[in-house]
Amino acid sequence: MIDVPGSVESGLYEATMARFDRAAQLLGLDHQGVYKIIRYPMREVTVYLPVHMDDGRFEVFTGYRVQHSIARGPAKGGIRFTPDVNLDEVRALAAWMTMKCAVVNIPFGGAKGGVKCDPHQLSQRELEKITRRYTAEILEILGPEKDVPAPDMNTNEQVMAWIMDTYSMHARQTVTAVVTGKPASLGGSRGRREATGRGVMIMCQQASKWLNFDLSKSRIAVQGFGNVGSISANLLQKLGCRIVAVSDIQSGIYNENGLDINGVIAYIKQNKFLKGYPEAQEVDNKSLLEVDCDILIPAATEDQITAANAGRIQAKVICEGANGPTSLEAEKILDEKGVVVIPDILANAGGVTVSYFEWVQDRMGYFWREDVVNERLEDVLVPSFLEVVDYSQRYHVNLRTAAYMLGIQRVVDTIQLRGLYA
Ligand code: NAD
Repeated sequence: MIDVPGSVESGLYEATMARFDRAAQLLGLDHQGVYKIIRYPMREVTVYLPVHMDDGRFEVFTGYRVQHSIARGPAKGGIRFTPDVNLDEVRALAAWMTMKCAVVNIPFGGAKGGVKCDPHQLSQRELEKITRRYTAEILEILGPEKDVPAPDMNTNEQVMAWIMDTYSMHARQTVTAVVTGKPASLGGSRGRREATGRGVMIMCQQASKWLNFDLSKSRIAVQGFGNVGSISANLLQKLGCRIVAVSDIQSGIYNENGLDINGVIAYIKQNKFLKGYPEAQEVDNKSLLEVDCDILIPAATEDQITAANAGRIQAKVICEGANGPTSLEAEKILDEKGVVVIPDILANAGGVTVSYFEWVQDRMGYFWREDVVNERLEDVLVPSFLEVVDYSQRYHVNLRTAAYMLGIQRVVDTIQLRGLYA
């Protein structure tokens, strides 16, 4: 394996590279050629963030920003606030971002960031201080032409607003395009909050056309009921689908007749978690993945579908709202079972696509109507889905390998055209 320090922390980077390698091999790319460059991140930054807590204590939090590639444009990728985020995970997520932007053919490279903290245990004030200090510590590598963060797990529009403000205070001017996923009143794009879930919905529609089944009659289970999970569930229910199960970090709920997703969203607003939701049966997170359904949408976190449970998954289609929810070993089992997996770098690319639209709108100072944003999102995602299907048929590979092949080919072509400065 490549000699990247810390790459054994979670094994995620290694697993990611194993998948890249297979796609590169199928493209006939030599490991000693340009492809080798993609196997390494461009830059990694670790920062330590001293924060004065509400109770008077001082705490020091660890933050990361990894820029995997800027070959095709500014680095782009979300920031997550989770207790167990580590450099290896952020490195893998940054590499995926490069591929994701290339698959949907938008002019960005790939990056990812994270701060090791548990937002559920922090006050708003503490969260703001962590966000501002993190931004200040990585200030030099951020910028509309350099690296443009966005929301990810446990970060939202408010966090993006604080990042934009901190950056702008140092720049002595308002720089909205430094970050995407901002509130609409601060240069955010209409439709950005819903974009990843909308993208998941578009992917399910495309899959149903391609595989010739009636989406409106499908039963769907969704793991993770945050931004991506709740919006996917809501939009798919509006298309007539029956959402039979959803879950959050604590537990899940199941109703074979279908859950009322608006009701579940209202319940979560009041109670924070799904536990205790009255019109459903409680299920644990593990069994949620194995319930009887047609489509499974993992929309929580990495490594949820593994060799341990892949054999028991009943869904015929898995649409990966989350990044990296399926392990390498699980993928083999799913392939043998004939389960179609729409891979993360395609399935959840709606978010980064509308982030791109937001960046464009900020730079123009001209904002589009929501229906225009949604229409342009479809214009990007539908051809991307069809291109990935085309690669998969041409090379007789699953959709994930096909998406990697398409992404890697585009990044390699760009590096080759640019040549190497050395
Ligand atoms: P979020 O914080 O809004 O929601 C995450 C949800 O998952 C919550 O309901 C949480 O309780 C649940 N969860 C967390 N850990 C879990 C676990 N171990 N088991 C079960 N449930 C768990 O986050 P989000 O923005 O919806 O992101 C979810 C996933 O989608 C992540 O993998 C993220 O990288 C990916 N993603 C997000 C976006 C975006 O625009 N927000 C874009 C692309 C990909």
